[in-house]
Amino acid sequence: MISFDSLPGNTALKSSLRNALSGRFPQTVLLSGDDPDGLKTLSCVLAAAILCESGGPRPCGTCLSCRKAEQGVHPDLMMIDAGDEELKVDLARRIKAENAIVPNDGARRVTVICHAQNLNPMAQNALLKELEEPPGYAFFILAAEQPDALLQTVRSRCTKFALAPAGAAVSDEEAAALLAPYLAAVAAQREERMMLAALALEKTPRRTLMGVLGILQAALRDAVFFAKALPQPPLQPALETEARALARTVPASRLLAVYDWIGELIGRIGRNAAAAAVTCALTSDVYRICFL
Ligand SMILES: [Zn+2]
Repeated sequence: MISFDSLPGNTALKSSLRNALSGRFPQTVLLSGDDPDGLKTLSCVLAAAILCESGGPRPCGTCLSCRKAEQGVHPDLMMIDAGDEELKVDLARRIKAENAIVPNDGARRVTVICHAQNLNPMAQNALLKELEEPPGYAFFILAAEQPDALLQTVRSRCTKFALAPAGAAVSDEEAAALLAPYLAAVAAQREERMMLAALALEKTPRRTLMGVLGILQAALRDAVFFAKALPQPPLQPALETEARALARTVPASRLLAVYDWIGELIGRIGRNAAAAAVTCALTSDVYRICFL
C-alpha cells in the first residue's frame, strides 16, 4: 500500500510534507537528495497524495486513485524517469501539451521528473512559464540528485524539500538516545557536559550523524513551538522532555538561530568538515548562540 512509510527515516521531512498536504500544497516542488531510489519513492508517494481522493490524511493508500498511482496506471500522473539520458526540449513540449488538457479522473494532474538535473538548459527554459504559472490543476515534482545543476530561474520557482543522505537513515530511538544527553546539557547551560555529549555524537559515522542532526533540528523546532506555547504535536515525541526543558531556558528566537546553525553544520559535514569542527560547532558555537 502506498504510504509515507515506503521511505525509511526522514521523519522531519515527512512531517513537513504531511503538514503541507493538509493545506494548500505548492504546485511546483523540488525534491533533492543523493539517493535516486529514495527520491523516486518519495516522488511517487507525494504524487499519490496530491491525487488521493480521501478526505483524511493523504495518501490513504486505498482509494481508486491511490491504487492506480501505485500500479503506475493513473491517467493524470505523468512519471518521467529516463535514467541518465539527457532530457531535451521535445520532452518539455510534451509535458506542456499534456498539462494543457484538463485531468481525466479527478481535479488534479501531476508531472514527476526524475533526475531533473538532466533537463538541458533549452528544456528548462521551455518549462519556465509552466513552472511559474501552472494551470490550477497542474502539479510538478522535480526530483534531482544535483539540484545545483538546475538553472537558478527554475530552482527559484520551486518549493524545496531535501531528503537525508542515503545511509543516514537512523531510527528515532537511536537518535534520541544520542541526542537526549546533549539537549539536557544545553538546557542546563553546562558547556562541559555539552562537550562530552558532542564528543559521543562525533564518533557516529558521518552519514548517520547528518541524519541525527536532522532529528536534532526537529527537536529544536518542537522546542520553538513549546517556547511560543503553540499547540502542535511534537515531531520527536522521544525527545519531548528535553525539548520542553530547552524551551524553558532558551528564548524562541535563539532556538531558531540554533536550528539554522545546525542546518549550516549539516551542509559542512556534507562537504567533509573535520570531526573536531563538529564538536566545536555543537559546543562553543551553540552555547554562544543560546546564552551570550
Ligand atoms: Zn487515496
